[in-house]
Amino acid sequence: MTGMRTTNAARGDVTDVTDTANRRARTQALVAKDAAHVWHPFTQHSRWLGDDPLVVDRAEGMYFWDTDGNRYLDGVSSLWVNVHGHAHPKIVEAVTSQLQRLDHTTFLGLTHEPGIELAQRLAELAPSGLNRVFYAGDGSSAVEAAIKMAYQAHAQNGGVRPLIVHVAEGYHGDTLGAVSVGGIELFHQTYRSIMLETRQVGSPGVRSAEQSAQARAAEVLQELRDLMAAHVDQVCAIIIEPMVQGAGGMLTHDASFVQGIRAICDDTGAYMIADEVATGIGRTAKMWAVDHAGVSPDLLTLGKGVTAGMLPLSAVLATEEIYEAFLGSPASARTFFHGHSYTANPPAAAAALANLDLMATDNTLANAQDVADQLARNLAPLADHPGVMEIRRIGTMTGIEVHPVTERTGFDVCQWARRHGVWVRPLGDVVILMPPLAIQPAEVDTLTATVTAAVDAVVR
Ligand SMILES: *Cc1c(COP(=O)(O)O)cnc(C)c1O
Repeated sequence: MTGMRTTNAARGDVTDVTDTANRRARTQALVAKDAAHVWHPFTQHSRWLGDDPLVVDRAEGMYFWDTDGNRYLDGVSSLWVNVHGHAHPKIVEAVTSQLQRLDHTTFLGLTHEPGIELAQRLAELAPSGLNRVFYAGDGSSAVEAAIKMAYQAHAQNGGVRPLIVHVAEGYHGDTLGAVSVGGIELFHQTYRSIMLETRQVGSPGVRSAEQSAQARAAEVLQELRDLMAAHVDQVCAIIIEPMVQGAGGMLTHDASFVQGIRAICDDTGAYMIADEVATGIGRTAKMWAVDHAGVSPDLLTLGKGVTAGMLPLSAVLATEEIYEAFLGSPASARTFFHGHSYTANPPAAAAALANLDLMATDNTLANAQDVADQLARNLAPLADHPGVMEIRRIGTMTGIEVHPVTERTGFDVCQWARRHGVWVRPLGDVVILMPPLAIQPAEVDTLTATVTAAVDAVVR
């Protein structure tokens, strides 16, 4: 298998025996401290140590290295955030010089150049009509802000609309508002009794093999129209992940679904919130996933890739109409009462600006389309593998659904790939591939060859 990397080859830079022993001792000491004190996200700690924790030491380009000196190809962009590879010198330089000039101040009652320049850049790049930029810290906090904006804008325009409508299998983050509009039973049912009041429709991405994507989109849109008719003037917003429900397992849907949401929002006055935290900034090989459908939402959330995966930053893009609903005298209480300690953190904003500069000069969107085409070509044979149920993909966002043959089949496939120098992380029995947008053809070949071999080894 060309391009395959064995664990031994990946250890190529470990030469000296003492060196190896020292590295091993350091790893073991770190893992022991981790086990004593750290609580990891989305992690069952009764299994953590048994799964041989990987301690990351450093990263460069498409790779990172563990403390034992093993090298791994970053096949999921460090959980869907990385764009140009790790430690890109231009972004490192932008962040470093920003830190030296202005590290951080509040954005409450103050403003600064990186925050201003980034807002202008995002407004220029945004789908039409989205001219206002409100910063937050993570994708979840952007979703919280968007929900509050939608509710408050309606209330201040004379209509209190307490309901938010969302989609089964949707994922919008882990804070409570975001969980309230989530539709993944495993993640969200635990917190059901402390959630906001919402209504859910079926997932446009879940359908039988006989049903077309268009037919499924039409079916869910009809369900939505019926729901809206039953709750006239009660729904302040409909939130969707346009084109693909990422955490739901890369469930792709037809563009007519996104267009239909726009039409229903126009008819009912509900705001359309497009959660582009995962899909935005080129991940689907267009700047925004809504570009595939040719529509503009009223509110758009972005995060993950905006800083190219270097620092936490997110934002809500809003229309002027929504923004204007918040204008009034200080006594009118029409202010948007929301903000975070690190809102518009200057080095994060500088990283985002450097990212957007690089995307323009390096033609990153075109590269992402090449990556997408190569993923499609390389993975086509795997679709016929008896262990594979379905491969779903839009742009570089790829899900390979495997047949469950062990308790954690997806995980076992990823562990096999890890032992062969490729890091990927599953969602249940869906193995996710989402390489950095700037990845090059030889590395894509390594990624797909290793994952293909992993599926072959684990699912038979
Ligand atoms: C990851 C994600 C979020 C949450 O972002 P965090 O930065 O993890 O809080 C929200 N929405 C979507 C669609 C996501 O994929």
